[in-house]
Amino acid sequence: MSRRALLAWFALVLALGVFSRWHVQERRPTRCSLDGGRIEPIYRVDLVVDGSVRESFCGVRCATEWPRVPAGAAWHVRDEVSGRTIDAGKASFVESSVVTVAARQDRTHVFEHWPEASEHAAEYGGNLLANPFARKRLDAAEDDETD
Ligand SMILES: [Zn+2]
Repeated sequence: MSRRALLAWFALVLALGVFSRWHVQERRPTRCSLDGGRIEPIYRVDLVVDGSVRESFCGVRCATEWPRVPAGAAWHVRDEVSGRTIDAGKASFVESSVVTVAARQDRTHVFEHWPEASEHAAEYGGNLLANPFARKRLDAAEDDETD
């Protein structure tokens, strides 16, 4: 193989590597749909429509500020302890002194099990919250009725 051909071959391999990496990054939704902030997997919130994730958010605050929530949409949150994906309706929410998403000054924590939520609230001076997505769903339903 000539020196020129070898150089061309290396350039091709490098280009393919860069393209494949870019392709993987593009397909993975790691940026918040509302503010473009980086999503920490443990605080991720997904807006699910017809069984597939339509939008992803860096935390509860961004998700609750999202203006376009179709009727019948579901919110999937992550249990802070296990990292498991759970329906927001089954989660316990706590607002405490511990910041979850610094860029948004978000202090909302999500727990699958109520005792863990209660424990966190007691330890970090927090309050248990009603499901912040329940109101959102009601608003969307009201919007539909006026149409
Ligand atoms: Zn965000």
